[in-house]
Amino acid sequence: MTATEPRPIRTGAEYLASLRGRGLTVYYLGELVSEPVDHPVIRPSINAVAASYDLALADPELATATSTLTGQRVNRFLHLAADATDLVQQNRMQRRLGQLTGTCFQRCVGMDAINALHSVSYDIDQACGTLYHRRFLEFLAMLQRGNLVLGGAMTDVKGDRGKAPHQQADPDLYLRVVKRSADGVWVRGAKAHQTGCLNSHWLVVMPTTRLTEEDRDYAIAGAVPVTAPGLTYIYGRQSCDTRSADSDDLDQGNANFSGQEALIIFDDVFIPAERVFLDGEFRFAASLVERFTCYHRRSYVCKTGVGDVLIGAAAAIAEANGVAKASHVRDKLVEMTHLNETVYGTGIAASHQATTLASGVALPDEMLANVCKHHVTEVPFLLGRLAQDLAGGLVVTLPSGADFKHPDVGPRLRKYLQAHPDVSTEDRVRLLRLIENMTLGRNAVGYLTESLHGAGSPQAQRIQIERSADYERKKAMARRLAGIGTEAGR
Ligand code: SF4
Ligand code: FE
Repeated sequence: MTATEPRPIRTGAEYLASLRGRGLTVYYLGELVSEPVDHPVIRPSINAVAASYDLALADPELATATSTLTGQRVNRFLHLAADATDLVQQNRMQRRLGQLTGTCFQRCVGMDAINALHSVSYDIDQACGTLYHRRFLEFLAMLQRGNLVLGGAMTDVKGDRGKAPHQQADPDLYLRVVKRSADGVWVRGAKAHQTGCLNSHWLVVMPTTRLTEEDRDYAIAGAVPVTAPGLTYIYGRQSCDTRSADSDDLDQGNANFSGQEALIIFDDVFIPAERVFLDGEFRFAASLVERFTCYHRRSYVCKTGVGDVLIGAAAAIAEANGVAKASHVRDKLVEMTHLNETVYGTGIAASHQATTLASGVALPDEMLANVCKHHVTEVPFLLGRLAQDLAGGLVVTLPSGADFKHPDVGPRLRKYLQAHPDVSTEDRVRLLRLIENMTLGRNAVGYLTESLHGAGSPQAQRIQIERSADYERKKAMARRLAGIGTEAGR
């Protein structure tokens, strides 16, 4: 740590304090947000990131690692994966944080970006004689020393999906360099679906697609502080989000934690030369995207931690309804569990089957990472259906917390909505609201639709699966056994 660097953030509370007073330009519901940390709609998303700091203190074996850059223990979200064990530990940590928060804890994009940038910056330097890798390592060491949150900004708004970046009617529909000097570059554009961006300290921008020579200005990767001049954040409006601001605690389902997505507009934002990790080397955009998605698609085991919570809620509501012993109920819980473990199995297998790249970083198995994410595009929906099945129709017809607290109506609601004698009506309501939150409400954003489209929509994985499938090799296996083209077949 140098004299100019603040001391590292250790606890969730210190992390919260680090986000205060930053003067970010944030819009929500058409208004400027004066302090995101104190905003009731935004705060639960900050709490979810804070959980990653607290887990590092509670379980350092799981959520920290020894940095290959500084030799110090660092949060695993800032750690370069040196081998399969590191990748597996990432997955185990992700599942645990899903269990603790019941939502998206937002730090995986940064973790997966640093691991992808490590090898790609190395490869560009080898091929082009640039100095990106050393710059990148210095940047990462700075993040590690401060224990800072890095957000990854990859997804451009993309305009006409049938056209390349340089063919768009408006050239700003993909982030691009609009000006250069010896000191750095200025970028313009917008990044959509930016998970946890306001809750980060730094953002790393990366191209979102493979690029050609004509797209050279779009081939840019680099890091800026979240506070950089020219950045505007427009907070996503999400299902039931204002319940955390204007509703009774009984209505919220998961009062403390949520995800966060925003659109970021870059109005000629300056990236100093020492924070640029790719500039114009368009041929490497594809490997950056592919390696990032390889890490990120098996990071979606986060959803199995959230799935554990949903299975727990479904089992508990079955108990509260008095039907826990019914064979079809038990079978539905088994179905939920086997689906959830299938996702985890493919994700963790991708990590176990890692290969080490020339830069020294470990990369998961591409096929299995894509299969993991592809399961994630379906399995949470299946679990959500089963959880709603077990919950019963009350999950969508339940009166509000204010009604339960009303002096006249409240006692009558408790009388008529009682079920199993060992479970209070209030606890039954809380479980139903949690299932609502995860399958229809605020955290369904992350558990369902984000599972579908995050880290690439289903077709993106099908393309990768087809590319890796190696049908020729499989055809040769089949032909050999069928006796085609062999002595036996003549
Ligand atoms: Fe991490 Fe999952 Fe959130 Fe992506 S969706 S940032 S993998 S918790
Ligand atoms: Fe995501």
